[in-house]
Amino acid sequence: MPPAHDPLPPLAGLTRAHLDWRPDDGGEDTPHSSEFDDVYFSRHDGRAETEHVFLDANRLPERFQDWTEDRPFVIGETGFGTGLNMLCAWACFDAHAPARARLHLVSTELYPLDRRDLARALAAWPDLADRAAVLLAQWPEPVSGVHRLWLDARVTLDLHFGDTAERLRWLDGRVDAWFLDGFAPARNPDMWQPALFAAMAARSRPGATFATFTCAGVVKRGLAAAGFAWRKVPGFGRKREMLAGEIATPPADERRRATPWFTPPAPCPRRRVAVIGGGIAGTSVAAALARRGVAVTLIDREGPGAGASGNRQGVLYVKLAAETNDQSRCYLAGLLHSRRWLDALDPDGSLWQPCGVLQLATTPREAKRQTAFLANHPLPDSVVRGVSSEQASQLADIPIENGGLEYPLAGWVRPDALCRRLAATPGVTLLRAEVDDITATPEGWRLSMTTDQGPDEFDADQVVIATASLANRFTQTADLPLQPVRGQVSSLTLPENAPAPSRVICAGGYVAPPREGRLTFGATFRPNETDTRVSDADHRANRDELTRTLPGYAAALEGSGAPLDTAAFDGRAAVRAASPDKTPYAGPVPDAAAWRQAYALLAKDATRIPDLAGQHHPGLWISAAHGSRGLASAPLCAEVIASRICDEPMPLEAPLVDHLHPGRRLIRELIRGG
Ligand code: SAM
Repeated sequence: MPPAHDPLPPLAGLTRAHLDWRPDDGGEDTPHSSEFDDVYFSRHDGRAETEHVFLDANRLPERFQDWTEDRPFVIGETGFGTGLNMLCAWACFDAHAPARARLHLVSTELYPLDRRDLARALAAWPDLADRAAVLLAQWPEPVSGVHRLWLDARVTLDLHFGDTAERLRWLDGRVDAWFLDGFAPARNPDMWQPALFAAMAARSRPGATFATFTCAGVVKRGLAAAGFAWRKVPGFGRKREMLAGEIATPPADERRRATPWFTPPAPCPRRRVAVIGGGIAGTSVAAALARRGVAVTLIDREGPGAGASGNRQGVLYVKLAAETNDQSRCYLAGLLHSRRWLDALDPDGSLWQPCGVLQLATTPREAKRQTAFLANHPLPDSVVRGVSSEQASQLADIPIENGGLEYPLAGWVRPDALCRRLAATPGVTLLRAEVDDITATPEGWRLSMTTDQGPDEFDADQVVIATASLANRFTQTADLPLQPVRGQVSSLTLPENAPAPSRVICAGGYVAPPREGRLTFGATFRPNETDTRVSDADHRANRDELTRTLPGYAAALEGSGAPLDTAAFDGRAAVRAASPDKTPYAGPVPDAAAWRQAYALLAKDATRIPDLAGQHHPGLWISAAHGSRGLASAPLCAEVIASRICDEPMPLEAPLVDHLHPGRRLIRELIRGG
């Protein structure tokens, strides 16, 4: 099969921008790039230049004022730099757009500024101080990939860290207005290449406009070759001319030729969306949609915080493969996303503790795997680093016999309270019922339900299924394999002065820092078991795992009078769900019968790809198979689904959106069957 996308690069940290500060015309210190020997902006007139070149030449004040579409207006930028352009676009949007309008900013950056430099650069604009503070509070780690930031209730910023042309090729989204920035073509010839203009054209909405400060021949030729009409318009200050223009008919998305089955379904009405399942997958989708102004009914037979999401403590962690693969890319993106999302949702930390997670190497095999992982992934220490047993012991405040990996951004969450908080998002209505069946109607979907009062029905335009191991009980989802996995956690009350870990510690199981005097550890992993009664056998398994992983700590616990006697344990058992490839299902539900028919030829010859878009059950979505890592995966998957439903740019690179697609296995089966 021809590859659908250029391969994504290995997960890696990016080089920070090297700045020196030089006086500009007005004698003010201005950020200057040592790499490119060019300025980010002139402190003297940078703000006025941004407004003239990027906002006015794209006619943003008028276009914002007239924006009545349900989807957000999308701006794409090449080179985020200090964010001045984007903060000005946000201010312009606030000044002109109607109350219901939304704005989505997409910007690339290969050399992200250090947070301190960013703060210093933005301090030049006191009237942007509040906006700059929002940006600084969420400023991402310098890791390649997409980082979604919430600037306010109506404005989202996706930072695509990496090279512009590559990032735009992987962008799953389309742009209404381009800010073609980046240092001057003469200083940064690598960026101003035909590949950049071609990627811009392919990611444009019909009629998308652009504006740029430069009039260089290479830019005019590149834009024209890609299909943009350009004209010279008066430049800013001493620059006589600059370019502005538009693309009437952008080219088709060539990427879909290799994977027509993943073609996203066309947007459909979304006045009311039903979300089935009140765990972290369902509540995070409900909140993501409600935030976008969609009326959501969240349906669960038990209420929010059901199933495995009802635990007192859950671990926000990931386990990344030694060799980079798309699953690891999704999980690292998910961890970074959840961390930013929790920070924004609960800045006081009443729902979570970002205490860091230690992943111990308790076997030579795991030690070897971790060494290979670190060698293959030059990530910043602030994201993941190797630690010795001494460092681990110091970090966690308990004796630890093995070294391992430290994930400083990870931690533990109160999943039960988090689900309740998300379910309380304005715009979400709770309905306590068990959905037995869903059927397509001419307007959308009819849900047949059992409630305490008896059978009932509910109509919705669209439906998101987020019921873990039960998610494939419906006719439409029956072809998505899901394995139930029973997991039990154990907890014990700590005597006063008992030692306790200050970090989450994972190996075969996990132990978390105590919450309200109780130490929680677990969880058992019993595939194909669905019994949710607490069992002593699972308590013993959890205790034995704790003693094996942390023998010194287990001894210290007993020494302090904490009984490791299972009779004194409390517990909770729940059923999680896993897909065969252990990647969540997040996206539209494929019409399996239609796929099998449309793509039957693949069984004979995997290179014969029909030019047929995949058929999906219109307005039916799934977020499931989050296993025991739902705190890292579900919030990002919620954004994937909400972004698609609302016709917005996606929060992940296109190959990763495809990787999560619930239909991936159908295609694999067809090809293998041949
Ligand atoms: N728009 C910015 C602002 O509002 O502050 C100013 C942009 S600055 C003049 C140019 C930016 O483009 C720098 O931050 C630089 O690191 C970035 N850049 C240069 N080459 C790039 C590339 N190939 N891919 C992504 N970003 C690049």
